Amino acid sequence: MSNNGPNRRGVCLVLSAAPGVGKTSISREILGTEPELSLSVSATTRQPRPGEEEGKHYFFKTPETFAEMVEAGGFIEHATFLGRSYGTPRAPVEQALAAGRDVLFDIEWQGHRLLREALPQDVVGIFLLPPSIRELERRLRHRGQDSDEEIARRVAAARDEIAHWDEFDNVLVNEDFQTTVQAVRTILYAARGERARQPWLGDFVAGLLRE
Ligand code: 5GP
Repeated sequence: MSNNGPNRRGVCLVLSAAPGVGKTSISREILGTEPELSLSVSATTRQPRPGEEEGKHYFFKTPETFAEMVEAGGFIEHATFLGRSYGTPRAPVEQALAAGRDVLFDIEWQGHRLLREALPQDVVGIFLLPPSIRELERRLRHRGQDSDEEIARRVAAARDEIAHWDEFDNVLVNEDFQTTVQAVRTILYAARGERARQPWLGDFVAGLLRE
């Protein structure tokens, strides 16, 4: 509809939750049905879990390389979680937004806060809550990849994460997978229609009124 460039700016859709609440499966489901949405692949200094692939789940970095990337301004935000560093590479996000493509972020509360500071017009935050802490612990154990000690650390981190629920524009309790997926999709569609994301509308409406 616009003659030059994309007809809207992309949405930065942040999906945040304590690990184990289900955000990874929800992200995967949404990404599978939304061709205009791509995942921001973060860099981290933690070790890969079995099945995790370089460049698909994370870019796995040494602490030294990660620090160099921070120094060079390569991250749009970065934060520490359980002693490891996580960061969002800047260039892919800026390119996608300018091209009118949406980006999904699986990041924790500090990342959401920093991203919102960096891109105040673009971020739409969704926080997922578990139905209960007991259910969260069950899901973490079910993953079967982490030791008891790691699970205990993650449950403690979950409580800390949950305390930040009120920094997000949207909050969902992930009781039923499909219901949550549908709610996330609806939030994305609504964000795409926001006036501020469609700068071409002024000209379009002026044209309409000249008809
Ligand atoms: P995990 O080690 O389980 O993959 O991730 C631990 C936490 O770090 C999760 O809450 C995840 O959302 C968050 N995380 C992953 N990538 C990033 C990132 O680039 N920035 C920030 N701030 N958090 C991230």
